[in-house]
Amino acid sequence: MLNNSVTASVSKISSFLEPVTIDNPSAYPNRGWEKVYRDLWVYDYEFTWLCSPNDTHGCLLKAYVKNGVVVRIAPSYNYGKASDIYGNRASFRWDPRICNKGVAMLRRFYGDRRIRGAYVRKGFLQWVKDGFRRDPETGAIPAEYVRRGEDEWVKVPYEEAFQIVAKALINIVETYSGARGAELLQKQGYTHVLYTPKYRHGAHTTLIDVDIVAMWFGPYADPYRRDKRMPFVADGYMDINPLDAKKMGIEDGDYVRVNGDPRYEPFEGWQEKPNDAKVANLVLRVRYYPGIPPGTARIWFNMYQASHGTVKAHETRPDDLAKTEKTNYQSMFRYGGHQALTRSWLRPTLLTDSMARKGVAGLLIGKGFAPDVHCANGAPRESYVKIEKFEAGGIGGEGVWRPVTLGIRPLNESDSFRKYVEGGFFVGG
Ligand code: SF4
Repeated sequence: MLNNSVTASVSKISSFLEPVTIDNPSAYPNRGWEKVYRDLWVYDYEFTWLCSPNDTHGCLLKAYVKNGVVVRIAPSYNYGKASDIYGNRASFRWDPRICNKGVAMLRRFYGDRRIRGAYVRKGFLQWVKDGFRRDPETGAIPAEYVRRGEDEWVKVPYEEAFQIVAKALINIVETYSGARGAELLQKQGYTHVLYTPKYRHGAHTTLIDVDIVAMWFGPYADPYRRDKRMPFVADGYMDINPLDAKKMGIEDGDYVRVNGDPRYEPFEGWQEKPNDAKVANLVLRVRYYPGIPPGTARIWFNMYQASHGTVKAHETRPDDLAKTEKTNYQSMFRYGGHQALTRSWLRPTLLTDSMARKGVAGLLIGKGFAPDVHCANGAPRESYVKIEKFEAGGIGGEGVWRPVTLGIRPLNESDSFRKYVEGGFFVGG
């Protein structure tokens, strides 16, 4: 049996559970509790930052800070206000811009593998302290300052790190700008800036998963593989400005070898590993492409690279296909791939089993490893390269690629092709 005081308490509590009839909702009593929810969104200050986890979108986002901790991330709605140094403004139509990876980034700010502090390579720091010394003839940085992968790391205050980055960027831009900059790079052996974008709406390599689609991917399609140098029924290629290529003695459809920074590409220490270097060093076709600015070249990111197995297959199979016997992995290059020329930055925060991340598809947030989500693949990027002719484009390396002889290619247009492009065959009213 309940005693009197318990009965009184129960009765008091029950009174809160009585239904209340309110005619005017804005006069609802006892609304103090709502403050708890409102306080969830209260913050001390906010700042704008650039999200760049491992994609190329670089969304301008806002972080909201409470008690010194970022508690929420949201779109900045500031795209229309952003401008470059020339005053060009972005469109407001970019807003709102964020995805659920961006929303979850604060989990990375405070992740257990976050590197606490700013670190600089010892040699690089010395280069800054020594006033950005360069070879007066070529502009190259002396080798003792550039010991990536083996140098010690020095911890510096963030303020100093920002200064180092800013000063180094200014030095690099000033050194390599304009005709003088191009001349210096040529003296270092580089001919082009290469970029390796992903074919949008083609997820990674799916564009060449199937033979018929691979043939549509570029101009080098032949289901009969009359030229047995072709690794597949299609061939990997690089787009280059036609006038640039002509000057270098490279014809439309020729094979070229592309070399990157010999200190690191295709991989560090390749000089001592000739067999591995042969697999990794890139050989591919060129396509004359007037839309490519002079001094630059483009390799679509979507083509499967050569492996030890595909190189062996291409060199030993009776049909010369670059397709491994054991796994049927099919490369679109005889040798190498664009990753022989680009560097990945393996950010430890991307490789943990405890980090929040977006799902492979859809809007779910998961945790830890997932295929192709924040893996160590790195986003497409740019590099300086040296392009040299490797073999002529005609079948078996004899003469030029046939479409050139037909007069249907840039810089090699026949009169009738020009007439066609100009609409000369149009006889309508
Ligand atoms: S992760 Fe999302 S929010 Fe961040 S840059 Fe990429 S698309 Fe933008």
